[in-house]
Amino acid sequence: MIRQDFHRIDPKRRTTLDHKKKQFATPIFKQQDYPFRLNFYGVPPTAEITLEEFEQWAIDRLKILAEIEACSYRNKTPPETEEHIKPLLQKFLPLSSNTSSSIGPSDARLKKERQKDHYSHFILRLAFSGTEDLRRRFARAETMLFRFRFQHDDSRERRAFIESLNLDWEPVSDEERRALSEKLVQATPGLRRADEETWYKVNWERVPELVEKRSIFLSKGKAYVPGREQLSMVIAEFTARLERALELTSRALPRLDEDDRLTPILNHLSKNFGSAESVYSESEGFVDGAPITAGSIDHLSQHFPLCMRSLHLSLRKNNHLKHFGRLQYTLFLKGIGLSLEECILFWRQSFKGLTDDEFNSRYKYNVRHAYGDVGGDVNRRGRGYPPYSCQKILGDTNPSAGQTHGCPYRHFSVDNLTNLLQATGVNDKEVLRGVREDVGKARYHIACNRVFEWAHKSEIKKVKDDGTWNQTDLDTIVHPNTYFKRSYLLKQLGRNPPPQNA
Ligand code: SF4
Repeated sequence: MIRQDFHRIDPKRRTTLDHKKKQFATPIFKQQDYPFRLNFYGVPPTAEITLEEFEQWAIDRLKILAEIEACSYRNKTPPETEEHIKPLLQKFLPLSSNTSSSIGPSDARLKKERQKDHYSHFILRLAFSGTEDLRRRFARAETMLFRFRFQHDDSRERRAFIESLNLDWEPVSDEERRALSEKLVQATPGLRRADEETWYKVNWERVPELVEKRSIFLSKGKAYVPGREQLSMVIAEFTARLERALELTSRALPRLDEDDRLTPILNHLSKNFGSAESVYSESEGFVDGAPITAGSIDHLSQHFPLCMRSLHLSLRKNNHLKHFGRLQYTLFLKGIGLSLEECILFWRQSFKGLTDDEFNSRYKYNVRHAYGDVGGDVNRRGRGYPPYSCQKILGDTNPSAGQTHGCPYRHFSVDNLTNLLQATGVNDKEVLRGVREDVGKARYHIACNRVFEWAHKSEIKKVKDDGTWNQTDLDTIVHPNTYFKRSYLLKQLGRNPPPQNA
């Protein structure tokens, strides 16, 4: 693999940089050691990695952060969130401790894991520092990830890591502790005697969680924190440093425009926070052995997400769909495994009242084009265009009157959306209320996942209970074709329980 140094700016252009830009243009390249599993990400990476690693590592981390955010949007409790992301972390961003039984502290794999964690954090920091909203969401998700790892770290390693941070927590002297003893006990829930604890004084803004819970003694702008609340202090410190760093990064961002290799990758990443669509591969929607033919689409449409269900209902009602609806639906059908011949047959049978000649001259070419059978650039020949992701559908301009493409959660009025959901069998008041709330907060794909989870409640419970599927098989859906495949497989498993002792 050709290694490409992503810090180096094209030398021809470097000569034109002004002095302000120059101060960023002299990185010192060095390999870094990672003595601890945890990282406050205080030092930017400076060693070389390939562009492929640059992109893939960022996508892997993005997947984790998107799941963390989705859990929080769905009001999952910390233990539920933990259960959800643990296998995903293992798959996309494993991070072993020094005392891990399988690898030793000097092991190359351990170093690679930490390097990936370090680099991916900084790449996403670049991608998400552009706007205040992205910075806030990134800091929140990263803090949750750090908290999760901190809580699960080996206790000796964790202690050594904290000592390495040189945090300016001021220890409370014995004298002061004795003087404040009564107040400390009163303000700190569950404490019987002040001398049971080691105490630290920090500025009250540094421990917002504790201040909010009113579980801390405050005096003259200082919070008196018992040692057992170390977690809160470390987390607060992590967040504060990250927020500061994001601000600084956002100011340095304009100079990145100098690098036309990185800017498109970073732009792509920043557009996909909340729906790490890049992890979807075109073959992912196929279900091996499923009977996908023109004649089976009516029956299969029960497994379609609302965007495709709505297109299918419109098609059956009007015997026609306008161009963008046809394109969205055709690509989806291609993605679930409908062959070109069957797709042409499907549209031919659906457009009633047309002669063969009319159909062939007006519609057939577009279907063949979507499949890559005609036209298109050389690269797309034979493949056509990929099925649209939620991100693409949600980001498209609003359909105008008479057009049926788009995402109903995003593009329908709340009343029309509710009517459509009820017409497709979603009649649970709590689910409908949750959907309205999600939509009100522009969390469209969360609404869609809420409906999916409700519609497949018993099947999801079953595959979880019997261990047929794990949490990585049930991560947040960010692609209509994933919705179909998961729905189809879950319902099949429900109908055909796996044989005992298989
Ligand atoms: Fe379709 Fe995605 Fe909207 Fe669900 S969230 S209806 S899958 S576009």
